[in-house]
Amino acid sequence: MKMDKVIGKLAARLPAFEPGHVWLAGAGPGDAGQITLEVAAALGQADAIVYDALVDPSILEAAEKAELHFAGKRGGKASAHQDDITALIIRLANEGKRVLRLKGGDPFVFGRGGEEAFALVQNGIPFRILPGLTAGLAGLAGAHIPATMRGINKAIILATGHAAGTEEDLDWAALAATGQPIVVYMGLKNLETIGAALMAGGLAGSTPAAIVTSAATERERVVTGTLETISGLARSAGLEAPALIVVGGIVAMRAELTALHRMMRTG
Ligand code: SAH
Repeated sequence: MKMDKVIGKLAARLPAFEPGHVWLAGAGPGDAGQITLEVAAALGQADAIVYDALVDPSILEAAEKAELHFAGKRGGKASAHQDDITALIIRLANEGKRVLRLKGGDPFVFGRGGEEAFALVQNGIPFRILPGLTAGLAGLAGAHIPATMRGINKAIILATGHAAGTEEDLDWAALAATGQPIVVYMGLKNLETIGAALMAGGLAGSTPAAIVTSAATERERVVTGTLETISGLARSAGLEAPALIVVGGIVAMRAELTALHRMMRTG
């Protein structure tokens, strides 16, 4: 089969997964087509996989021989404690297993990968980092929203909306003052607070805004509006996490790119 041959050639020089090592990897935003070759190779060799809720089941199914350990949120229950997850990874590695620590997106973007890598260093466990496509960029691309576009933006801000409205919150006004587009992870439940903070910081209510949920999966939904209308639109559409909020002129490109894409498919 041709595809197997191509993948075989590309993967030929990848390092072997050694027993007792941990590979800290990103599985991309959802679709198995968006994992890297390194992750595919790791899935084939791992003895144990410690995975988060955002890793698509189809990706785990490809790993036939590995024992699976779930380490994320499920059914509204709090996520496993970070210390317990780290301890589990270290125990499995000390048992001589090839441990694949698999996270959604990229392990070092709002994924606590840094903390886990640090713990591995402290415990003398050999590891590699396998980058992944982060949802905030790949999810945008899939929704026909270019992360950067000449004439529109010269930077893009990736922010977390997790702490919006609390004392540990970001300075949204400072971000708004840059005039550059902002992509907010973990922000859906605080959408109203974030939108209000950005407008208070000087962004016009008419600034284009979008929400992309479950990007790169069959459940993907995209809702577009403006900073002023987006929270109402998200509520009436019944949008659910995982969701990205995108605010800025790049969002306006979606309408044009999507129209052309449709024309090409039907015409
Ligand atoms: N490490 C991940 C981010 C983990 S934080 C990455 O690099 O993508 C979890 C947040 O990521 C979610 O709340 C959501 O904001 C975003 N996210 C992850 N996967 C997503 C997806 N498929 N669609 C939309 N947002 C997603």
